[in-house]
Amino acid sequence: MLGLMQDRPLLITSIMEYAALYHYDCEVVTKAVEGGIHRTNYREITQRAAKMAHALTKLGISQGDCISTLAWNTHRHLELYLGVPCMGAILNTVNPRLFPEQLTYIMVHSDSKILFMDLTFVPLVEKLVREYPEKFTGVENMVIMTDRAHMPETSLENALCYEELIAPEDDRYDWPELDENTAAGLCYTSGTTGEPKGALYSHRSTVLHCFCLSSKDSLGISKTDTVMPIVPMFHVNAWGSPFVATMTGSKLVLPGGDMTGENFYNLIRDEGCTISLGVPTIWLALLQYVESMETLEDQDFSRLPIEHFVIGGSAAAPSLINNLEKTFGATVVHAWGMTETSPLGSVNRPLPKHENLSDAERMAIKVKQGRPPFGVEMKIIDDDGNELPRDGIAFGRLMVRGPWVAKAYFKQPDLNILDDEGYFDTGDVSTLDPDGFMTIVDRSKDVIKSGGEWISSIDLENVALGHRDVAEAAVIGIAHPKWQERPLLIILPKPGTTPSKEDILGYLDGKIAKWWTPDDVVFIEEMPHTATGKIQKRDLRRIFSDFKFSE
Ligand code: AMP
Repeated sequence: MLGLMQDRPLLITSIMEYAALYHYDCEVVTKAVEGGIHRTNYREITQRAAKMAHALTKLGISQGDCISTLAWNTHRHLELYLGVPCMGAILNTVNPRLFPEQLTYIMVHSDSKILFMDLTFVPLVEKLVREYPEKFTGVENMVIMTDRAHMPETSLENALCYEELIAPEDDRYDWPELDENTAAGLCYTSGTTGEPKGALYSHRSTVLHCFCLSSKDSLGISKTDTVMPIVPMFHVNAWGSPFVATMTGSKLVLPGGDMTGENFYNLIRDEGCTISLGVPTIWLALLQYVESMETLEDQDFSRLPIEHFVIGGSAAAPSLINNLEKTFGATVVHAWGMTETSPLGSVNRPLPKHENLSDAERMAIKVKQGRPPFGVEMKIIDDDGNELPRDGIAFGRLMVRGPWVAKAYFKQPDLNILDDEGYFDTGDVSTLDPDGFMTIVDRSKDVIKSGGEWISSIDLENVALGHRDVAEAAVIGIAHPKWQERPLLIILPKPGTTPSKEDILGYLDGKIAKWWTPDDVVFIEEMPHTATGKIQKRDLRRIFSDFKFSE
């Protein structure tokens, strides 16, 4: 027998309409790409999303069509986040930091009919169109996300101006009642091997993910918050934060294209941000900026309104957690996820029994990637697919399933990415402890295999980052005649410091198992990063491909 409750579809449209009705005067603030601060609210955002839907209809867009963006975190991008999926089309948020071959592959593979771009990316698109004209034949229109006054001289034929496009349109739109499983957003993984692969989110998965983000044991985003996603809207939908802020009516602060510690600091202070989300490198930039501030008066940063820093995308090292919490009197929330998981897969929130722990015990828990929120199921397996115990010791391939986890990649129906029980293989190696906390040991391809045992590069990096002169640390495995692989520690020193190998190894001594000690330490002037701000180990492996440990 079926229940007798209403079967209302879970649609992004409902989030938008709810915001228009209940959060209409709540602010959306953008550090504009053109310069200055732009202020609007959810009512205007939804009205402009409706205008955009009319304009797109006139440009020939219909349900199922794909529209791409190369854009920062701005109010216009938010309008597209709402208007495009709610009219039944698909928004493909492209990461401009990808290689030209990947960008053009995505344009063709996604079958993009329109490309929206911020002013910053006009030269990039001009170059791509010049060098790969055949990849853009399907793109019928290009729209520059600015007003007439700021429209640049461009070689892009018939480039449209965003503000002019929507100006004449009606600010109400008869949004279709879509099936909740209709595709809403597309996001390609940066793909460390092979071509980028597309995760195709649905309205339903997006709404369920929003409910999760707003729950107290997850990120707990609520109407009383001012949310600043620094993680870009081209990286897994800024971890879903623009959607959840619209749903809960949190004030939303969008940092635009100004990725400096100074901009983050000013926005936190001036706009009253209570929660901000980003990868570790973002927080290093913020900390470096505040360290460089000189006036004493400015130095009581704990008076700033910030309450939570959400760190994900890469492991949060104890030194980073400590610095952020001490400097700002805020709480770090460590989270894990991936493009294929929308992205939230786990969040680190202390349990009631952790209340009276010592600082060291508390930190030992905080560095874990956290517990899966309700909705995400996790298991770890060995190479034969056998489930491993949840004892915090055994480690294996991390598998996840849930209503916001991918079941297939876009246009790759023959590629089975699930096991027999419907779990997705994350490519991460981890442990699960009896309390449900998951700890990433490594990406499966980054783990160092030494004499039949595994060394976690993340653990070594986390310890090395505690050294006062270390800005960034990466550990890679180097082939070794006896042990198969041994760790090489690569360090980017903090500006103005020159730590020595002996310094660093002395610091590690006693903090790690003896046999984990890196066989060598090298110093570099620049750390390579991926398009999503993680350390690019593939480049490091290439740079150090001929490296030999001295006897
Ligand atoms: P992406 O799809 O680009 O967001 O990358 C997802 C991958 O980032 C995951 O599979 C992990 O390897 C890594 N990752 C994300 N969050 C964390 C975290 N908190 N700690 C360690 N690695 C993480």
